[in-house]
Amino acid sequence: MRAVRRFTVRAGLPAPLADLGTLATNLRWTWHPPTQDLFASVDRGVWERVGGDPLHLLAQVPAERLEALAADEDFLGRLAGVSDDLRRYLGDPRWYQERAADPGGARMPAAIAYFSMEFGVTEALPNYSGGLGVLAGDHLKAASDLGVPLIAVGLLYRSGYFRQSLSLDGWQVEHYPVLDPNGLPLELITEPSGAPILVHVAMPGGRVLRARIWKAQVGRVPLLLLDSDIEENADDLRAVTDRLYGGDQDHRIRQEILAGIGGVRAVRTYCELTGVAQPEVFHTNEGHAGFLGLERVRELVSGQGLDFDQALSAVRAGTVFTTHTPVPAGIDRFPVDLVQHYFGDESLLPGVDLRRVLALGAEDNPGMFNMAHMGLRLAQRANGVSQLHGAVSREMFGGLWPGFDTGEVPISSVTNGVHGPTWTAKEMTELIGDPEGPGPIADSSVPDADLWALRCALRGRLVGEVRRRVRAAWLQRGASALELGWTDSIFDQDVLTVGFARRVPTYKRLTLMLRDPERLRALLLHPERPVQLVVAGKSHPADDGGKALIQQIVRFADDAGVRHRVVFLPDYDMSMARYLYWGCDVWLNNPMRPLEACGTSGMKAALNGGLNLSIRDGWWDEFYDGSNGWAIPTADGVHDPIRRDDLEAAALYELLGSQVAPLYYDRDQAGVPTRWMAMVRHTLAALGPQVQASRMVREYVESAYAPAATSGALAVADGFTAAKDLAAYRVRLAEAWPRVKVLDCELALEENTTPVVGDRVAVRALVDLAGLSPDDVEVQAVAGRVSDTDDLSDVVTATMAPVGEGRYAVELPLPHAGALGVTARVLPKHRLLATPAELGRVVLA
Ligand SMILES: *Cc1c(COP(=O)(O)O)cnc(C)c1O
Repeated sequence: MRAVRRFTVRAGLPAPLADLGTLATNLRWTWHPPTQDLFASVDRGVWERVGGDPLHLLAQVPAERLEALAADEDFLGRLAGVSDDLRRYLGDPRWYQERAADPGGARMPAAIAYFSMEFGVTEALPNYSGGLGVLAGDHLKAASDLGVPLIAVGLLYRSGYFRQSLSLDGWQVEHYPVLDPNGLPLELITEPSGAPILVHVAMPGGRVLRARIWKAQVGRVPLLLLDSDIEENADDLRAVTDRLYGGDQDHRIRQEILAGIGGVRAVRTYCELTGVAQPEVFHTNEGHAGFLGLERVRELVSGQGLDFDQALSAVRAGTVFTTHTPVPAGIDRFPVDLVQHYFGDESLLPGVDLRRVLALGAEDNPGMFNMAHMGLRLAQRANGVSQLHGAVSREMFGGLWPGFDTGEVPISSVTNGVHGPTWTAKEMTELIGDPEGPGPIADSSVPDADLWALRCALRGRLVGEVRRRVRAAWLQRGASALELGWTDSIFDQDVLTVGFARRVPTYKRLTLMLRDPERLRALLLHPERPVQLVVAGKSHPADDGGKALIQQIVRFADDAGVRHRVVFLPDYDMSMARYLYWGCDVWLNNPMRPLEACGTSGMKAALNGGLNLSIRDGWWDEFYDGSNGWAIPTADGVHDPIRRDDLEAAALYELLGSQVAPLYYDRDQAGVPTRWMAMVRHTLAALGPQVQASRMVREYVESAYAPAATSGALAVADGFTAAKDLAAYRVRLAEAWPRVKVLDCELALEENTTPVVGDRVAVRALVDLAGLSPDDVEVQAVAGRVSDTDDLSDVVTATMAPVGEGRYAVELPLPHAGALGVTARVLPKHRLLATPAELGRVVLA
């Protein structure tokens, strides 16, 4: 039996060490090696035992040791140095402050609220399941480094996601250890009296769901986490924040109501309490948190006397939505009845009409409510997470903007990035310098031999970790220590090491490598050029198909003939991931194109000199350049999934056996694989700066947050004049639009001449505006290639000028040679619209 430990760090520390408490609770330590070194020097043994977690270290270190350190001048000097560094980090102006001070620059929001259902900041706060959460964590860290005034919001799960182990026959077993928030790097948000502040959210039948608010401090960024596990709640409501992605649809909608609606209420309270500026922009990281927009509509309806449409115009202007998956099963949808159950009686959102709510989530199936659709309808700016995913999303959601070509669908892309200081081995940073600066790697002043020696050391560290984890996994599976001697000699520090770790949905194809087990064996056991393979990943607890895939891998790896060259490591999480990204020579990714929205693990490997071997999907489609790794050819156009897997697996074996391994084992006299190192060097120098989360966050600031702040400010200025005006305009438009017509469109070509590309030709149109004012619309000429069926492609557009009653004209340079077509169209125009496609209205000739 084990008691749940409770402790308060600050009280237990001798006064001279008080700053250790601050350093332990600000999660900047997770990406700041000097702070980690300071904690390690408190007590190296305990530090190792607690897995490098400062709060646990301070709770377990003997009091005498702390007393001794409190009198140790050298330690106190280092503590003061690290504390000063943190103070400067938190207080000094950074990139964002410089940008905001530029008098000619864009309007920079005073604060941005960032909502996500999961946050993977550190394994010391296990509140994530996989890529989405780790990405959110990296977003916060990079925002902190750049000085971006983010306030993050999510839920605190009592058991996080699950912990994975294996049964003897290789079946995934889930555990849900209970976390005590008092033992986590969290601070409870309280009244000055010390009483916890509770957020209230109405539930059907007059019930109330309450949640307390914890705050994790991620450098400069506060992360607010709502927790419903309090005595004031009925048992079923206490369980709302029990697990991440754990329950049924009803459980899930309650979580999303709490995160979205309760989340806005938590931010409001936090800002009032601390004097921090209220957010001007709200970023919805995936559809799950989308109810936040409805709560802001409610605020404006009940607080400012706006009607629904006026409030919606204002809310949309300041909202950014990021979609993260092109997999239909990955889109969050609820039965309409369920939404009706929670939003029906207006106690949850007084003044917000249920029919309007349902319309925001409408999709093809009238029985379902689609959170991604609502996210898109509630946000004026939306994006996918790689260029390819942007294109796929424009296709996938194009139906929401009928009449527009896919290319015009207003969903852009911001390619994900990863937080360099978190994921780069500190030895690599020491050797090659800041990946974002002109480090020594770019001018090749780091000798190959040094870089290779570091790669070997990192691989060696991974080998040690593999042995430790395989042994622990077998003990867990029921083996006795006596029969596990073999685990001390599995893996080899010198063998080409390939890594594959990720969640296990079908499209990621965990078992593609097992397509032809004999070919895989031959690669692993090659007499001169062997390969060793480390695999990890969790399957969603309800996904038996995924668990069967894991079992296949485990069974293959259990075979005594190959177990020294292939392992499945249970319980993939951030603490394991780090060793894999540091130590693998090759990072393998073989999703079913184009279902990987971005993928970020390969970026983390690249930061450490790992080479990617991947299907050209997600980020790799845009960053593969021919010499930074390999692209596994895809069998595009082959629709039979089995044949497609066969073809792509064969291509994978072929690449590994005839290109990757030979290159790795081709050594100079000193044993250095020179040609391999050229690719490593190129990866570090060229990919290093591009895959950074700081690049991503700067892009969000420039392409989304700053423009949303400008639109948002315009919408609310002068008593919401523009928002009210847009709402009235939309009503006018809805009434007149069905009667707006392009009556005629003609091209003025000179007789008997054939125009040349680039020639300017006059286009004229006659339009019936059905009573709308010419200021209400934009009339465009469109020219492009024309098919046999008169469909236009590769179009260019030009705004036509009014030249008389209903008449419009423009001169247009001819964009292409060959068969061209031209047409005219009418689009809405309003100063609060970000693009003419936004309202999904267009009249074509
Ligand atoms: C980076 C990361 C992921 C996401 O990797 P993908 O390539 O997007 O699948 C998942 N889990 C952990 C622990 C990570 O660090």
